[in-house]
Amino acid sequence: MRVAIAGAGLAGLACAKYLSDAGHTPIVLESRDVLGGLVAAWKDADGDWYETGLHAFFGAYPNMLQLLKELGIEDRLQWKQHTLIFNQPEKPGVLSRFDVPDIPAPFNVIMSIIRNNDMLTWEQKIRFAIGLLPAIVRGQKYVEDMDQYSLLEWLQRQGIDERVNSDIFIAASKALTFINPEDVSATIPLTALNRFLQERYGSKIAFLDGSPTERLCQPIVDYVEARGGEVHLRKPLKQILLTPEGMVKGFLIRGLEGAEDQVITADAYVSAMSVDVMKVLMPPAWQSIEFFQKLEGLEGVPVINLHLWFDRKLTDIDQLLFSRSELLSVYADMSVTCKEYADPDRSMLELVLAPAKNWIDKSDEEIIAATMEELKRLFPNHLTGDNPARLRKYKVVKTPRSVYTASPGRQAYRPDQVTPIGNFFLAGSYTMQRYLGSMEGAVLSGKLAAQAIADRANHLGSSPPRPLEVATS
Ligand SMILES: Cc1cc2nc3c(=O)[nH]c(=O)nc-3n(C[C@H](O)[C@H](O)[C@H](O)COP(=O)(O)OP(=O)(O)OC[C@H]3O[C@@H](n4cnc5c(N)ncnc54)[C@H](O)[C@@H]3O)c2cc1C
Repeated sequence: MRVAIAGAGLAGLACAKYLSDAGHTPIVLESRDVLGGLVAAWKDADGDWYETGLHAFFGAYPNMLQLLKELGIEDRLQWKQHTLIFNQPEKPGVLSRFDVPDIPAPFNVIMSIIRNNDMLTWEQKIRFAIGLLPAIVRGQKYVEDMDQYSLLEWLQRQGIDERVNSDIFIAASKALTFINPEDVSATIPLTALNRFLQERYGSKIAFLDGSPTERLCQPIVDYVEARGGEVHLRKPLKQILLTPEGMVKGFLIRGLEGAEDQVITADAYVSAMSVDVMKVLMPPAWQSIEFFQKLEGLEGVPVINLHLWFDRKLTDIDQLLFSRSELLSVYADMSVTCKEYADPDRSMLELVLAPAKNWIDKSDEEIIAATMEELKRLFPNHLTGDNPARLRKYKVVKTPRSVYTASPGRQAYRPDQVTPIGNFFLAGSYTMQRYLGSMEGAVLSGKLAAQAIADRANHLGSSPPRPLEVATS
């Protein structure tokens, strides 16, 4: 079967990869001149990479890890020590670590919490553990039911000390969703916690050894093209063309730079675009269908990714760090953590600014000035005093609408990959799958869409059945 896919983010590319495996022919149409969507990266005039987002991979990403293995590129993940590292606002420049010992889950995570004496008292740890019990005992069903509460409400209902929120959950919720605990659904951090408590290496972090565009997306394209599929950049979907019955009869692709618009026809069609774009391109005839109406309940969240190149080394820590500062979320010195960005003498900090709602419209200069003030508290030895490190250059990448805003109640609006339109499917990390708005979620959504298309083709008898395997842990 020929399948047209709009969007070459991880969801669209994964969908194409698994359709190729199932013996179908994907045609991927990407609006921009770069692969990857939210993992896209570019080189500046000096040859330095900058990215849409600082991306951490987790041990609890079975579908991503399986994909890398199937592509033969799993060695591109640089696994870090099994530890979570937090800055301490009250002690500038001092770090607090949760070192996870190599023993079975959940004892490894429990031990890391017990051994950390900087951030929580014994009483707070015990009340936190008791509060978590229902999620551990009753599992994912309980976690899903908690979508009605914000994380802050849930913590209060469980009688968990406010200090657990300020020490751990503000940082976790900013890192996972780019919003604060009072705005985020309790389901999100509980889902992540559950995975970390169930899998020995679930919370272990890896960095890709170079830019996601070249090191992760391009190999998927090579794989797909080697099997007869196609991936085209600069092919923006302009309109979803319908038959009188409301089925898709083609994708109308906008012609760029004076070229004519073009119609791409296929046996099945996939939107692997963000939910915000899908809502704009929704054919009027579908707007009365409840399935599509629900997309109105979803909206991308603003986030900003910062790159700061310094004239000296600020740290030698080879890990993701949780800044626990007002403006910033997670950060890493990419000159240490990422092989291709390595520099033995000078740091390149990559930082996520979140929540970004009040910053997305500000100038790059204002954003960098505020960031430098916060960095003085994270690196007082290098950024204050007589001879502070000099900022050589910076790059600010703003994404006004990134992953879906994971506020309470959103789970009910996340659509299945299978739509009421027989030849139209959805992929994207916002669609319903158990890994939320993440790279793992994007890959799994693409795989599920491919599986649904392959199932339908088998049902119609157009190709022999070839089941796909969805990894769960
Ligand atoms: C700052 C930041 C940090 C992040 N950190 C992490 C992390 O550490 N770990 C993690 O797992 N996840 C992280 N994420 C989330 C992760 O990047 C996303 O969940 C995932 O990449 C989404 O993939 P997707 O394919 O669903 O959507 P997208 O990447 O949004 O892909 C959609 C694609 O559709 C294309 N498109 C749009 N309109 C059209 C059109 N009209 N025609 C054709 N194509 C179109 C877009 O250009 C894009 O390529 C982060 C995201 C950001 C922004």
